[in-house]
Amino acid sequence: MGKYTLRCAGCGNVLSDTITSCPMDGGLPRADYLKRRFNPRELPGIWSFIDWLPVDGWNPGTGASSVTYKSSGLADELGLNNLYISFSGYWPERGAQMRTCSFKELEAAPTMQMLLESGVKEILVVASAGNTARAFAEVCSITGQPVILFVPTQSLDRLWTTIEPGRVLVVGVDGDYADAIKLAGVLSSRTGFRPEGGARNIARRDGMGTVLLDHVRRFGSLPDHYFQAIGSGTGGIAVWEASMRLIGDGRFGCTPTRLHLAQNIPCAPVHAMWIGLSPEEMNFDAHGCPEGMHDDVLFNRNPPYAVPGGVRDAVISSSGRIYGIDNARAASAQKLFEGREGIDILPAAAVAVAALIEAVGSGAVGRDDEILLNITGGGVKRLAEDHSRIRLECDIRVDVEDSANVLSSIEEMIYA
Ligand SMILES: *Cc1c(COP(=O)(O)O)cnc(C)c1O
Repeated sequence: MGKYTLRCAGCGNVLSDTITSCPMDGGLPRADYLKRRFNPRELPGIWSFIDWLPVDGWNPGTGASSVTYKSSGLADELGLNNLYISFSGYWPERGAQMRTCSFKELEAAPTMQMLLESGVKEILVVASAGNTARAFAEVCSITGQPVILFVPTQSLDRLWTTIEPGRVLVVGVDGDYADAIKLAGVLSSRTGFRPEGGARNIARRDGMGTVLLDHVRRFGSLPDHYFQAIGSGTGGIAVWEASMRLIGDGRFGCTPTRLHLAQNIPCAPVHAMWIGLSPEEMNFDAHGCPEGMHDDVLFNRNPPYAVPGGVRDAVISSSGRIYGIDNARAASAQKLFEGREGIDILPAAAVAVAALIEAVGSGAVGRDDEILLNITGGGVKRLAEDHSRIRLECDIRVDVEDSANVLSSIEEMIYA
């Protein structure tokens, strides 16, 4: 008997594969862990939450966790008495050691560990607008596992490691993130390759859920509110699931943490669906939009919104809401945060800061409420003071229309 049962997040059906869809309702797979009690172990980083990760072992070289601290600078500015910041990135003065500088590292480490333990000799295929690819490149370079990354060519400058790159194959896609997903999908459906799974990957979600677990370990209670910038919304789903596990423990009350998820408008499909716009009214065009965004990592054309166990379920059942933040508000929130907290942050994270500012202004949060603000990435400038970065070169450059050639050249490279 394993440590968890895999169930559909919608109907509860038992499922067999960690990245599959439920045959009954298409719901997300979810790990139903045998251990109900929240019991962090004396292990490094996120591995201390191993009871609620779908792995049995850990690699001590990977798995840096987020760091949670009580804010004074931004909290004063906003008049909040219980503002906590979860920081994923590099900020050694606060103990934050994620060298790829975003919370995608929380997803990459358990995903690679789960794949290792599955014993399947398949090569993982990942599509990414940049931060996910960087996290997988670094983690795989540490573990020695092979990985193939599909990245839009305009995002290739986000790709670097801080150690000698391992068996990492970089495919530059002439197109956007949706095109990268499409090509990665074609390759990963072939024998010998495995899709990373996105929101359907339980290792990814439960890795991100450790953001909430770290807060509760340090401060002892479930926060009233959680703020995060989203693209797919996977992090929001993950925190909702983690809050339900904590409620299941019995010591943390019975009210799930309220999700406040923020997208960067106008390229904001989740926000658009939330406020009920029709597809025609969503005025983001195929290729123009991401370049005009405060951060294009927040653009995902096919977010897991309406699927059972997806973003809509998470937001509704936590009595939460979804914010639309324009570039100007994101930029000023970024300046405010960096000035008051003293660390550089990724532009995506500033979208969450702006949502918090809006919520304070509208009274959606009270000044004494316990609030967790997820700074999903930061410390890139701080990292440059301590570590040199190795840029990853594009190994193959491909066009979306040309997928047949892509596949044969990738297979040639791998089996050469
Ligand atoms: C990916 C990413 C997000 C959005 O995450 P979701 O998967 O939509 O929850 C937010 N901020 C940063 C820095 C990211 O890399």
